[in-house]
Amino acid sequence: MKPARILVVEDEAKLAQFIELELKYEGYEITVANDGVSGLTIARESDPDLILLDWMLPGISGPEICKRLRQTGSKVPIVLLTAKDDISDRVTGLDAGADDYIVKPFSLDELLARVRAHLRRTQEENPDVLQFGDLSLNYATREVFRGDRSIELTAKEFDLLEYLLSHPRQVLTREQILERVWGYDFMGDSNIIEVYIRYLRLKLEAQKEPRLIQTIRGVGYVLRD
Ligand code: CA
Repeated sequence: MKPARILVVEDEAKLAQFIELELKYEGYEITVANDGVSGLTIARESDPDLILLDWMLPGISGPEICKRLRQTGSKVPIVLLTAKDDISDRVTGLDAGADDYIVKPFSLDELLARVRAHLRRTQEENPDVLQFGDLSLNYATREVFRGDRSIELTAKEFDLLEYLLSHPRQVLTREQILERVWGYDFMGDSNIIEVYIRYLRLKLEAQKEPRLIQTIRGVGYVLRD
């Protein structure tokens, strides 16, 4: 099982650092953003498994970030961190599409319990096998099948296909793919995406099966019939 990737959007440096250290200690992969704009950008580009989102942020507020992510179809679990504990604000946060909120100051135990609960919920919805049409990929065994036909993939091809399969019918930009599959610090030729998409198509369509990975010219790719 890969470690869950959590984005922490929090402008109070000390609190952000505390959360980062504790969650890393628990084995999670953490990215921190200190303001609303970078929080929203990173949320869109890195597609985290969960977002801990401060309410009051410079730039764009937590609930506004929530709303914008939901508008673009994101289902990532979002837990709002808020100092405001009156009822109307909780409703505002949940209306904006947050899954939960934690009132500051919170205990570490409470934070970890909420994180585990929300990650568990998505893991239950996303078991080991990803499927789209006659294509299936098993994280645990790293097997890929098209119908009954077993397909051998290299590690990178597997990562790329896994990313596409976890976002069916969603257009993924070249930037998103590069960042998720090759990493933030990838400095090589960005044509690498085209090259790997071609390898994948060759393998997935070896028996003349219909194309599943479609090109969106000038934007990126989408897994679609
Ligand atoms: Ca704040």
